[in-house]
Amino acid sequence: MLAMLLSLQMAALSGMGLGVCAEQRLLYAGFESDTDGFAARGGETTTRTTADAYEGQYSLLIRNRSDAWNGAAVSLDATWISGESYAFSCAVKQNSGAPVTMQLSLQYDDASGSTQYVQIVSSSVPSGSWTVLSQDAYTIPAAATNRYLYIETTEHLCDFYLDAVTSVSDDGSVPLFSYRLGDINHDAQCNAQDIRDFAAYLQGDAVTIYADTADFDGNGRLNAIDLSLLRQWRCNPQFTETTAVTTAATTAAATITTTTATPILSPGQWNNTADISWIDPSKPMVALSFDDGPVGIGNNSTASRIHNALSDSGFHATFFYWGNRINFGNQNEIVQAYERDFEVANHTYSHPYLTNLSASEILHEYNQTADILRGLTGQTAFLVRPPYLAVNDTVKNTLPVPLINCGMDSADWNNASTADMVNRIQAAMQNGTLNGQIVLMHENYETTAAAVEQLCPYLKANGWQVVTVSELFKAKEKEMYAGNVYNHCN
Ligand SMILES: [Zn+2]
Repeated sequence: MLAMLLSLQMAALSGMGLGVCAEQRLLYAGFESDTDGFAARGGETTTRTTADAYEGQYSLLIRNRSDAWNGAAVSLDATWISGESYAFSCAVKQNSGAPVTMQLSLQYDDASGSTQYVQIVSSSVPSGSWTVLSQDAYTIPAAATNRYLYIETTEHLCDFYLDAVTSVSDDGSVPLFSYRLGDINHDAQCNAQDIRDFAAYLQGDAVTIYADTADFDGNGRLNAIDLSLLRQWRCNPQFTETTAVTTAATTAAATITTTTATPILSPGQWNNTADISWIDPSKPMVALSFDDGPVGIGNNSTASRIHNALSDSGFHATFFYWGNRINFGNQNEIVQAYERDFEVANHTYSHPYLTNLSASEILHEYNQTADILRGLTGQTAFLVRPPYLAVNDTVKNTLPVPLINCGMDSADWNNASTADMVNRIQAAMQNGTLNGQIVLMHENYETTAAAVEQLCPYLKANGWQVVTVSELFKAKEKEMYAGNVYNHCN
């Protein structure tokens, strides 16, 4: 019974937060390769940009608006049947400095031929953070023709970003959005009983839980990672205990805060727990390392491409995560990295020059991100890469973990091309400087993803191993110490 229920729910629903499945998805506009059919409604400008994004690399930036109804619009084709019900959602962000009321609206011509404008969902959007507007069951008026989905404000003429515009069919067989993420037992309450039920399920007890609200990382499996994410979700500012059955704007990409106590690590102590059973220490190896994520997985994002290129060759790498970029929409990237045995590491919270900070400020930068990473992985301590590789004695004497800089810079941040990066690694292979090297890369460039896709099979074919930083040191039987700076392992 349990297995059947789960598989039924799995087949119907997956994904984080929205609880929707790919087969039913009628529209997804992420603006990753083009404008996905969206265009200006009036004289405003709509441009794809990497300046900000809710998912993936790109969003759509709407500027030069002279009327509140100026926004981006997409035509709804015959896929959507007037008189039927659909779920709609989008992510928006505005930086006006004050809340702005934004709405996802429908323009259509009614039976008499006159044009109508209706709001599918309307919500106050705070300045400076991504907000999801969602409506789980909106019925397109019967006989509506010339239908356009668009995003507008009620009066403010601010610029705004748009991303992840989604529409999903409501075929009546599955209640879309009926139960809130985290209400794993579907009792309309998201409370401690959900945690008890999840723990019981993981122990093999006969309880019924539902994947649409329990599969937090959307990987089709229910495990301790999802339970950890459930615990963390309860610390999210957006969390409430009661379940709204019909919701508007219930899911927001809020920054995660946690209250987890930080373990005290003694200076000098570093316990390298890497599993090197898959590594042949007699063969050459290199540690590729990726800064500045998470950028999110799915939709062929750069992080997905890098993860997959590594996994396809059986390789691992270290990812240094930037704490205040982690939100509820992209934290599954970190969980996926952890589940693939990649190394989850710390790139501070706000990416400052640590050399400008006091000891307590430096520690706070480490701890804020470590708390989030701990909630996602259950690990206690994380290697750190200082932003801009900037260290001084205060930094070294304060951070309770090894500091990982690099011996080779891919220069992806400085516009190196994919070919530049590949050539550089190949040259280092040939002149003997690659073995034991730590290579600096960033997960947010298409050029870097393409280079990793070329390099992994090439390195594998030539007998090389791509390993995490911790694996590199353990396999080469070199100790690491807190507060020491490491550029390579030779
Ligand atoms: Zn960085």
